[in-house]
Amino acid sequence: MTDYLDEALELFEYTQELRRDFHRYPELGFQEIRTGGIVARELNTLGLEVTTGVGKTGVIALLEGKEPGPTALLRFDMDALPIHEETGAIYASQNPGLMHACGHDGHTAIGLTVARILQAHRDELAGTIKFVFQPAEEGLGGAEAMIKDGILENPRPDISLALHLWNEKPLGWIGAAGGPVMAAAEIFRIRVVGKGGHGAVPQLAIDPVLAAAQIITAVQSIVSRNVSPLQSAVVSVTTMRSGEAFNVIPPEVELQGTIRTFDPEVRQRVLERFNQVVSGVGGALECQVEVDVKSITPAVSNDPELATRFQKTIACLLPESKLITDYKTMGSEDMAFIMREIPGCFFFIGSANPEQGLDAAHHHPRFDFDERALSQGAAVMAAVASEYLSKE
Ligand SMILES: [Zn+2]
Ligand SMILES: [Zn+2]
Repeated sequence: MTDYLDEALELFEYTQELRRDFHRYPELGFQEIRTGGIVARELNTLGLEVTTGVGKTGVIALLEGKEPGPTALLRFDMDALPIHEETGAIYASQNPGLMHACGHDGHTAIGLTVARILQAHRDELAGTIKFVFQPAEEGLGGAEAMIKDGILENPRPDISLALHLWNEKPLGWIGAAGGPVMAAAEIFRIRVVGKGGHGAVPQLAIDPVLAAAQIITAVQSIVSRNVSPLQSAVVSVTTMRSGEAFNVIPPEVELQGTIRTFDPEVRQRVLERFNQVVSGVGGALECQVEVDVKSITPAVSNDPELATRFQKTIACLLPESKLITDYKTMGSEDMAFIMREIPGCFFFIGSANPEQGLDAAHHHPRFDFDERALSQGAAVMAAVASEYLSKE
């Protein structure tokens, strides 16, 4: 078997240089012009068939193996976040207020490295690799935009693969589970409308602040009382806006937050109870309540058979690593839209190094990771893709 880790390590300087370059010049979702340009340039250099402007700023490339066979879609996201970087790194962001704080700079560099590695092995591949460099993963709908532009056709992929560098876990840790690994996410907005008045004369007003407070408390009963203790769900109220003056009862309160679940039945039950509890509690306190719940992404669910197959590949590739086969997180990912159509696997590559201070959380202004995780990620993707397209 080819030692893909060795090959990825040989390309480490290439990967690191790309990652640091993307890190210096982060771009928000659907604005990845520079990033997408470099991606297209590198893929063209390899002689792949490249298409740009897919899903606005996305790039795809086809790598044909020597013999016909199935198609594997490999997806890498490219967008940054509206965060002011505080890492102090020599490769820190040169674009004020923008930062690669989720590791997508690393994902893009990994993707280009995988393309290099697999292009060198194309004679050993039976089938097609479809490289998908996706814009706007961070809640802006990049995956859906690319699907709309046809990435799931011509050829239609048989499997889909993606990864995330994962700072919750140290370098050397790999998560590759079967079944759901990231949650379905909804955003909710609630308007609690009462009747404003003088803070000293509450009997003439209808206080939406009190009603909102009761709603916030009551929705916490859903996870504890309506969901089995053996299943997972999150209801988080994360914003609360109302009022200007200490002596005025405001006319309304606005709440926002998120709901996370893995299981479709649990999701259904939580959403149903959420509407009942919010409307019921608000109504009991004489307020008008408007509830708006929107789905952001479905759950990311790994195909169990593919997961078992690739766990073996990864165990052979990285015998020293800590391979975890039941890891999941309540975070969400728009790769779910691709994996809803095409069975696949989503891997987590441990990237933290606490001794070097590289362990800030994703989306934190001091987020940074141990760059050795780049080679591990590239090796994993190259190995599982080539295993899937191997001629034997
Ligand atoms: Zn993120
Ligand atoms: Zn991310």
